[in-house]
Amino acid sequence: MSKKYVYLFSEGNATMRELLGGKGANLAEMTNIGLPVPQGFTITTEACTQYYEDGRKINDEIMAEIMEYVAKMEEMNGKKFGDLKNPLLVSVRSGARASMPGMMDTILNLGLNDDVVAAMIAGNPDPNFERFVYDSYRRFIQMFSDVVMEVGKKYFEQLIDAMKEKRGVKLDIELTAADLKELAEQFKAEYKQQIGEDFPSDPKTQLYEAIRAVFRSWDNPRANVYRRDNDIPYSWGTAVNVMPMVFGNLNDNSGTGVAFTRDPATGEKKLMGEFLTNAQGEDVVAGVRTPMPISQMEEKFPQAYADFVKVCDLLEDHYRDMQDMEFTVENGKLYMLQCRSGKRTAQAALKIACDLVDEGMIDEKKAVSMIDPRNLDTLLHPQFDAAVLKKAPAIAKALPASPGAACGKIVFSAEDAKEWKERGEKVVLVRLETSPEDIEGMKASQGILTVRGGMTSHAAVVARGMGKCCVSGCGEINMDEENKKFELAGKTYHEGDFISIDGSTGNIYDGIIPTVDATIGGEFGRVMAWADKYRRLGVRTNADNPHDTEQAVKFGAEGIGLCRTEHMFFEADRIPAIREMICSDTVEQREKALAKLEPMQQGDFEAMYIALEGRPMTVRFLDPPLHEFVPTEEADIEQLAKDMGKSVQDIKNIIASLHEFNPMMGHRGCRLAVTFPEIAAMQTRAVIKAALNVNAAHPDWNIIPEIMIPLVGEVKELKYVKDVVVEVADKLIAEAGSSMKYKVGTMIEIPRAALTADEIAKEADFFSFGTNDLTQMTFGFSRDDAGKFLGAYYDKKIYESDPFARLDQTGVGKLVSMAAKMGRETNPHIHLGICGEHGGDPTSVEFCHKVGLDYVSCSPFRVPIARLAAAQAAIKEG
Ligand code: ADP
Ligand code: MG
Ligand code: MG
Repeated sequence: MSKKYVYLFSEGNATMRELLGGKGANLAEMTNIGLPVPQGFTITTEACTQYYEDGRKINDEIMAEIMEYVAKMEEMNGKKFGDLKNPLLVSVRSGARASMPGMMDTILNLGLNDDVVAAMIAGNPDPNFERFVYDSYRRFIQMFSDVVMEVGKKYFEQLIDAMKEKRGVKLDIELTAADLKELAEQFKAEYKQQIGEDFPSDPKTQLYEAIRAVFRSWDNPRANVYRRDNDIPYSWGTAVNVMPMVFGNLNDNSGTGVAFTRDPATGEKKLMGEFLTNAQGEDVVAGVRTPMPISQMEEKFPQAYADFVKVCDLLEDHYRDMQDMEFTVENGKLYMLQCRSGKRTAQAALKIACDLVDEGMIDEKKAVSMIDPRNLDTLLHPQFDAAVLKKAPAIAKALPASPGAACGKIVFSAEDAKEWKERGEKVVLVRLETSPEDIEGMKASQGILTVRGGMTSHAAVVARGMGKCCVSGCGEINMDEENKKFELAGKTYHEGDFISIDGSTGNIYDGIIPTVDATIGGEFGRVMAWADKYRRLGVRTNADNPHDTEQAVKFGAEGIGLCRTEHMFFEADRIPAIREMICSDTVEQREKALAKLEPMQQGDFEAMYIALEGRPMTVRFLDPPLHEFVPTEEADIEQLAKDMGKSVQDIKNIIASLHEFNPMMGHRGCRLAVTFPEIAAMQTRAVIKAALNVNAAHPDWNIIPEIMIPLVGEVKELKYVKDVVVEVADKLIAEAGSSMKYKVGTMIEIPRAALTADEIAKEADFFSFGTNDLTQMTFGFSRDDAGKFLGAYYDKKIYESDPFARLDQTGVGKLVSMAAKMGRETNPHIHLGICGEHGGDPTSVEFCHKVGLDYVSCSPFRVPIARLAAAQAAIKEG
């Protein structure tokens, strides 16, 4: 038997969402539970996929099946397309598996033409009816032209505006039947002018074109962007729903509305919604007229309102979740046109989940599963005061690179940011772009605004890691860094002027907008406690200073999965020593410089261990290429030369010699320790001594240091560095008379390491998958340059998402699961984790759960997201 591509609403149900789309499945479900739904049919998502496979054509087989269902629909409703006595008018509505509000298209009142219009009017002498018919007709021509023929709404809106002006009226509903009739004529003429053909009058042609347009709208640019942002695969396709019209614009005893069973902003349990009399479809949301609150509907339509309240209770009870509904009242009778789980703020999501548990509607697991982890982000960062924000227009909009809100005085350099912060000022760092040396200045700022760079720019990545608000890529800024000023939106901003930026929206505001701290209220704690009960994956954090560590622990981190030691070297009191180390000629000189760093590094680790209160910490040894540390300013070079008793030229030669053609694959990671084992020896002393000291002061903490060797590709290089570590560590521990244990492991971030994981596991106590580098090296492109071409790859559907944000499960993921398996085969006790940015991405966390890793590690502000995602993965697995 051939595939079935079309289903009556009465043939489907809510579980068929993949095939029928969310809208179609719920229309079917509402039909099944006896709610008043105009009866039509759904063309499946598979028909959409087939349409694309057939080169954007609806093939004959599918078209024939559709026509068969048109006949069934005509019969069920006692109306016929194009019939002059009982004409059938329908809506043609898109509906994907996942709700994509407003992303695709809908056409209403399809089936009208001049003859049908004339016959309808002739059959009903009421002058209001004539007005209704022409109102529907002009709406149909307008929507069909816009959606199907892509003529552009604006031409029609201009004609409506001209008509209103001519008649001296403000609102659409003040236009008379004659006005609307004239408009319909004008619209058809406009159509002919734009398209070069008459407006199609045959309802079946109209239907065919409309279905095609809905399929096509799956691939429109805004839908593509929305999908990428929301993890919706292109391959899913959209279903098409065809159903008889009910008319909210029939008369004053009719209307249309949208409502939520609970408040989508706060979660409060009360019916929320809006209603418009004598209106159709989009009128409510389009804002042409101000709708009335749903409560007022009760006065005008007592029966329909009472019925609707019943429907709301029934639907909540049925779906056990807050519902978002669209409905129409025709001549006082209620019809349901859509229901779905309502979109909600993170705050509302938590409240609704807790309330539903308390009401006995759902259990804890369901509560954990129904919260979108990505939403939590917004709860954890400071926000602008909503009341003030309402009155303040944004002066510009750029990329929302890292969420949160920031308000402060403008500074133009990292040094200024630090200095001003020390004076007690709140600052926003505004720069063309940021580089690794700016880290301290970024930390000192409330937020960062950059002119250049995208979502994966240095500023964006670092800011997200710190949980610091960042707006990037604001090309509208005319920057003059040297003179510490810039122009934006017609105003010149100087150092010290106030500016406010919103990293959740990318909006930029002039002056002061006060912020309020995130409130992690009781419901957040409740849901998180449930999540912790069900998850199997551990959740650690990536942190390299006590402040971030404390933050992460507050958010529930169970330890540090990645402590990057190099960040500790950028601070002003350390950088001279590391530069001295780099510019040394002999081992002795190097050791002398390292000896200066050792107590500082040891102090850092002690502070970290104390902030962790006994939780574990994986310390990664020095990783970046050395050129990142060397001075670029002439004055700094001279100072360094003086300190080292070398000539300026000598220093410059050394700096030049550090130049690399491809630093990502250059002299870095464990290669540094292989060439300069004294670096690894120093770092080992610092870690081991710190742990010995803190253990002595807090014997109950029982810290077991974890030392991680980065960028290993061959077991022998791991073994070489490990031997250095073991020799130093064992000696120190013995000297201290301690029996402290420690672990030595490695990052798996080079494909060769993954391929030889069985060998490497023999020398490693743990693996931590460094999926940032692993992704770069597996794909063969660098994270910093990918922005230049990924856009084209998205457009051409070669890649659907940024592999640095979402783990590429088919490629990189295969390396991860293979290495995990091989590692466990040779070393059953090996501990496995992931520490790339992916550790905080929900779909990647689910993957880590599936391949059996022990933990994920992510930036502090992503810890709650990872906890929730880990619980959802475990619950889903059952
Ligand atoms: P979206 O997915 O963008 O919400 P819909 O397909 O839900 O688009 O259509 C938008 C609006 O059109 C609905 O809210 C509803 O008011 C109106 N509508 C759709 N189908 C019908 C119908 N058969 N009768 C009356 N109004 C309809
Ligand atoms: Mg809708
Ligand atoms: Mg790396």
